[in-house]
Amino acid sequence: MLLPQENISLKDLNTFGINAQARYYVRINSEETLRDLLLCKTIQPLPKLVLGGGSNLLFLNDFPGIVLHMATTGVATIRETKADVWVKANAGVNWHALVLHCVAQGYAGIENLSLIPGTVGAAPMQNIGAYGVTFSEVFDSLEAMEVCSGKISHFSKEDCSFGYRESIFKKELYGQYIILNVTLKLPKQPAFQTDYGAIQRTLAAMHVETLSIKAISDSVIKIRQSKLPNPKRLGNAGSFFKNPTIVQSQFLQLKKLYPDMPGYPQEDAQIKVPAAWLIEQCGWKGQRKGAVGVHKDQPLVLVNYGGGRGQEIYQLAQAIQQSVQTRFGIPICPEVNIIQCCSSFEN
Ligand SMILES: Cc1cc2nc3c(=O)[nH]c(=O)nc-3n(C[C@H](O)[C@H](O)[C@H](O)COP(=O)(O)OP(=O)(O)OC[C@H]3O[C@@H](n4cnc5c(N)ncnc54)[C@H](O)[C@@H]3O)c2cc1C
Repeated sequence: MLLPQENISLKDLNTFGINAQARYYVRINSEETLRDLLLCKTIQPLPKLVLGGGSNLLFLNDFPGIVLHMATTGVATIRETKADVWVKANAGVNWHALVLHCVAQGYAGIENLSLIPGTVGAAPMQNIGAYGVTFSEVFDSLEAMEVCSGKISHFSKEDCSFGYRESIFKKELYGQYIILNVTLKLPKQPAFQTDYGAIQRTLAAMHVETLSIKAISDSVIKIRQSKLPNPKRLGNAGSFFKNPTIVQSQFLQLKKLYPDMPGYPQEDAQIKVPAAWLIEQCGWKGQRKGAVGVHKDQPLVLVNYGGGRGQEIYQLAQAIQQSVQTRFGIPICPEVNIIQCCSSFEN
């Protein structure tokens, strides 16, 4: 069995750049390695953390258990009809690399999800989304290993209970399964989605005359590069909070007090309010607290200027939540997974 490494810094393995240590760490290159570890008597009682690209995590302290770093590679087209292709990718594949692969093959459906950091295995966890497209729209199925038994189960779209930045793996089955691979069903005939954000403006600025999935991917990449801080230069995990939804009566009451308040009606008749707007109204944009702060242009993005601790970012997040709650009566919840393990370990 592959022996885990001990006392490994996770600083370069999370995009916040938090210098947490893992008591044990192992890079998982195959299902067999993973199963052997999960069934090993000395490993079974340890707390476990599955790690992908570390772009949606906040470590509050050292991790006293074992970090299972998913590094399985491989992408294959496993089925094809006149209209669609089914592409299967292993959990450790970089998400953006998969998008570029599909765009190059002429497979449509995920071009709007270009440049989202992280791995394929984490994409179903929070049902990633951007620029008017969500992962669940192209999801076919996945295979996952049960942590307690090492058994592999198949999950259909219905099984995954996808929601807005949610899935069954983040809720009822949290910590119980490790996603091994994901199969996407992608149309060969694209249904271009250009309504969202600055896509149309950017396509025009790029002098794109004939729309293509490559052009959309390029424009999304351009927008993201100009808008979002690059974690390699400024530690962050993208949007820290989810956009809250409120009932229409509350929205109408707030609208009387704040006529500029944006709101987007949802299918369930609730109104989604941009968390970035709420946070900015509370004066947080660009605020700095020691080594951590709120990004100067993107109020949803909390940043680590260097050397910040997870606890500091968490305290900042709590202060933001409190002020939004006090001013608007709206709770905002983190999108980022907060990794908290109470017992610290001895070196
Ligand atoms: C600059 C920036 C921009 C971003 N933009 C977007 C965006 O536009 N849209 C969006 O949706 N997200 C966005 N994100 C968030 C992030 O990229 C996604 O959530 C991504 O899917 C996380 O992938 P990861 O591999 O880094 O996951 P990690 O951070 O490593 O893990 C996230 C969670 O998934 C679990 N996990 C990881 N792999 C597996 C697995 N194989 N099996 C089971 N559980 C697993 C982890 O235990 C953890 O709970 C952004 C992040 C950054 C830093």
